[in-house]
Amino acid sequence: MADEKKKNLHKRDDATQPIALPGVRRFQFFSNLRDRALTKNLNRLAMLGIGASLALDVAKPVATGDPQTIFCYECRACYATQDKCPAAISFQAELNVAARVGDHWRFIKAGGMKCIRCGSCVSFCVINLDLPRIFSRGQQRVMEAIEAGRVPRARIDEALRKGWFGREFIDRVVAWLDRADADVGRA
Ligand code: SF4
Ligand code: SF4
Repeated sequence: MADEKKKNLHKRDDATQPIALPGVRRFQFFSNLRDRALTKNLNRLAMLGIGASLALDVAKPVATGDPQTIFCYECRACYATQDKCPAAISFQAELNVAARVGDHWRFIKAGGMKCIRCGSCVSFCVINLDLPRIFSRGQQRVMEAIEAGRVPRARIDEALRKGWFGREFIDRVVAWLDRADADVGRA
């Protein structure tokens, strides 16, 4: 009898489920089954993971000085800038996302280092983000990463070959490469 009672203790009792509408109960499959300890813990773990990645998504841009990038919901309306972008950048949203997650290579590949921050794309942004400011901050961070040796040399060479650095940055990048080569020669 005691065993039977203990067994039933962990079973879902339909009568205890909350009433959603008169005569209709809302069954809580994931919160009311104490005999599924592992599944329940996996659910908690998954929720923790989702919560942590969302927090990271917000914390990273705030910490790096790009909080506005959080508000871009990647609608891609800014792609309509097209030939109004003097640097021939077609994927402004890509630059915004790369700046948000701190992906320097993605920023370079999407043409971010050619942007002259003219602001022509701003009128196409449905939430009027300050795109020149975001792209400027992205450019600074890419240059800092290059000069700190955090962007692989092969990628810098590729970007130079493909013309992905605008005039404004070429001298600085080449100067850094010269310094790096001189350091290697001295070693
Ligand atoms: S701000 Fe940059 S991406 Fe936008 S239109 Fe001007 S050059 Fe192109
Ligand atoms: S239009 Fe604005 S919100 Fe939409 S993807 Fe472009 S930058 Fe983001």
